[in-house]
Amino acid sequence: MTYSYTQISQYLRCPRSYRYRYLDGWREKDTRSSMVFGRCFESAVSAYFSKQDPTHVLFKEWGSYREAQLEYAKGDSWEKFLQQGIHLLHLFAQHDRVRIRRPQKNLQLKTVRGLGSGNEFIAYIDAVGELDGQPCLIDWKTTSSRYPEEPQGLMALDPQLICYSWISGIRDVALVVFVRKHLPEIQYLRTTITDEQCKEFSQLVESTVGQIETGQFPPHSGIRFPMNGCTSCSHLGLCLGNQQFVDSKLIRRPGASDLDWLDQLAD
Ligand code: SF4
Repeated sequence: MTYSYTQISQYLRCPRSYRYRYLDGWREKDTRSSMVFGRCFESAVSAYFSKQDPTHVLFKEWGSYREAQLEYAKGDSWEKFLQQGIHLLHLFAQHDRVRIRRPQKNLQLKTVRGLGSGNEFIAYIDAVGELDGQPCLIDWKTTSSRYPEEPQGLMALDPQLICYSWISGIRDVALVVFVRKHLPEIQYLRTTITDEQCKEFSQLVESTVGQIETGQFPPHSGIRFPMNGCTSCSHLGLCLGNQQFVDSKLIRRPGASDLDWLDQLAD
């Protein structure tokens, strides 16, 4: 089996949800505008480093969803996303704080690591380059609100950054956060992951894979009412036996689990 960060984190969030998604093939419909836009925007960022016109790439990629039935938050629209995306690309070029040498090699890096059980873990790292002249691993994020920066040290607890540091062996890591808001903003957040954190993450992966392989899929959203994670879970309809919820959120593709690590590309 090939595992990814998305799979492990979904299991840790709720094992039952993992079973629905990866064993039974219930996938969330690809209608979330922010998720779709994020993928298009990251293609434009890659184009920027490959000396292509990023605005053109954004327009082309996002343009293919102009008539699609995507779900937009209140006040959002296809045009607004495009406008914010173009603004962010210009801002990114103006700041000029990130360098990626040999972009063909150092963007969307496929990294594979063997697990003790004969399985493997795969990650696609957004970029390896420099932020303000300092070498680091970089993860792009597009979001509608700023990432919290306080208290100091918070970033080093980010499980996805720890995962990428563990699999790549690169301890200096950064998030470049493209914030879509009224006045678009880019956050450049860097931190260092310790060897101890990577060792602990490795143990977490091994124990999680062990639980998956022994078929442990109890339902638990982890948080009590009113912060119940079930309310935002795409599999809620299956747990409630509510067909209307199932039809509105999910699509079933049984037998696709061997390729589920590809989800990593959508993060
Ligand atoms: S609705 Fe709650 S219990 Fe059911 S899969 Fe989702 S998070 Fe788990």
